[in-house]
Amino acid sequence: MTDRLQGIAASSGYAIAPAFRYSPESFVPERTAAGDPAAETQRFRAAVAAAGEELETLRALTESRLDAKKAEIFEAQLMFLEDPELIDAIVELIAAERINAEFALHQVAGQFIDILSGMDNELLRERASDVRDVERRLMNRLRGVGGAELGGVTEPSIVLADDLTPSDTAQLDPERVCGFMTEKGSRTSHSAIMARSLEIPAIVGVSGALAAVRTGDLLILDALEGRILINPDEAELADYREKKRLYDERRAALRRLVDEPTVTSDGVRLELAANIGDIEDVQKALDNGAEAIGLFRTEFLYMGRPSLPGEEEQFQVYKYVLDKMNPKPVVIRTLDIGGDKELPYLKLPDEENPFLGLRALRLCLRHEELLRTQLRALLRASVYGRLRIMFPMIAVREELLAAKRIWAEERARLKAEGTPVADDIEIGMMIEVPAAALAADAFAAEVDFFSIGTNDLIQYTMAADRMNQEVAYLYQPLHPSVLRLIAMVIDAAQSAGIWVGMCGEMAGDELAIPLLAGLGLHEFSMSAGSILPARELIGRLSQREWAETAERLLRLHSAQEIADAVRQQLGMGE
Ligand code: PEP
Ligand code: MG
Repeated sequence: MTDRLQGIAASSGYAIAPAFRYSPESFVPERTAAGDPAAETQRFRAAVAAAGEELETLRALTESRLDAKKAEIFEAQLMFLEDPELIDAIVELIAAERINAEFALHQVAGQFIDILSGMDNELLRERASDVRDVERRLMNRLRGVGGAELGGVTEPSIVLADDLTPSDTAQLDPERVCGFMTEKGSRTSHSAIMARSLEIPAIVGVSGALAAVRTGDLLILDALEGRILINPDEAELADYREKKRLYDERRAALRRLVDEPTVTSDGVRLELAANIGDIEDVQKALDNGAEAIGLFRTEFLYMGRPSLPGEEEQFQVYKYVLDKMNPKPVVIRTLDIGGDKELPYLKLPDEENPFLGLRALRLCLRHEELLRTQLRALLRASVYGRLRIMFPMIAVREELLAAKRIWAEERARLKAEGTPVADDIEIGMMIEVPAAALAADAFAAEVDFFSIGTNDLIQYTMAADRMNQEVAYLYQPLHPSVLRLIAMVIDAAQSAGIWVGMCGEMAGDELAIPLLAGLGLHEFSMSAGSILPARELIGRLSQREWAETAERLLRLHSAQEIADAVRQQLGMGE
């Protein structure tokens, strides 16, 4: 029987090709005495300068290959190269212990990697791979050896590695590399993000891959199911060739919908928007037919850097996004830090239950200056497009009123200074706390829109930490309790005459979309790649029919029953 492996599908699609094992040598330097620490320091500084130039070149190369998307991954590495905490610590170690630069580099980078790898926050953990990459690059320079790069891939191949660093991934030539899998990684690791940008099928977190596969083995990568078949038989090959052909055909056919509106089969117009985390994602949203930005997670502007971004820096970013999307609207969410997203430089005290703690707007109301700076930047940028400001994690009305008061004060101040500010800024709130969902009617009179944040709403409704694998079985978007809360929010919005959207992952889920459309959700905001499949699905749905179905299914007793009923009604196999 064909050997199979299982991992996490990180970038969807199918690939069928021989394996190329990529195992860059790892070099562990020995400690030797440096006769002349000053000369050793100079040698190290020269390596830093050369690595900086190399990274700038890589960034330009990535920009040209990816249409400027994701080249900023190298920013993180350049930042580490300029980070005094890393570089000066190495220089100091060379001088203090009179040792060779290679050993000092390995020591200090190792400490950084240990600290970052131990972080709770997945995004910060991923920074460890940037430091690893910087160490390898500097080590190669110090040793005068070229990089062990992926240039060896000359035939169409599926690359297999323990892990791929961002610069490895940037060098993947999509003409030759038809897919990759790694033993390490998660859906949000850099390599997964890159794979999605390059549209290369990828599976990460495949334990045992290196032991099971040799270079040249024929592989089938099923990056829809996260499955790998090693040396498949003829029948399996034929089966997957057909699956791949159909998949590619379907994707190509969906391009016809890029400039089309989103309309149900009975003529109800809905809005499909994109979730973005940085300015590079804007073009991708447009390329995928986004009608709006439904969530700009601004916290990523604040992360992976040593200090807060100032008003001017934020203004430039918001202006760029609004201008590029104009006249399409952009929902910009104010800082949502805390929970799984930390800002080490704020030096906030540890909390017993960070997801139930001082996060998002709660934190911003405690440290008002954070919010005031961000709102000023947003207000100044508002004249460049259609701005919708959204406040996260509101539980009680007082929080919303306090945020609105600060907004009004900053607005009045800017106007008094003569700074132009748009008159039509919409103010909305996320509904991601069950208390806010249950009392949505009390909030509806105070805002222009609601956006339902199911990623959090589900965890709080089910009392199941969204990061904890042990309770992942409780994390059920289609559970009747979650759906009933969503229905309440939509009803409250409709009664008050405001629009309601959803920006949690559930908005892009093909089993949830029909129910949400049936319940009357207007805007669906999701990762850019999910937009065209969602538009196609919505085009096949009758809103009226799904309104009746939703009413019936919300009375069922489990997520499983609801999922089965949706599948049945959609005519999907189990
Ligand atoms: C949500 O909670 O659904 C959401 C969109 O916000 P985040 O995932 O950033 O917490
Ligand atoms: Mg949230």
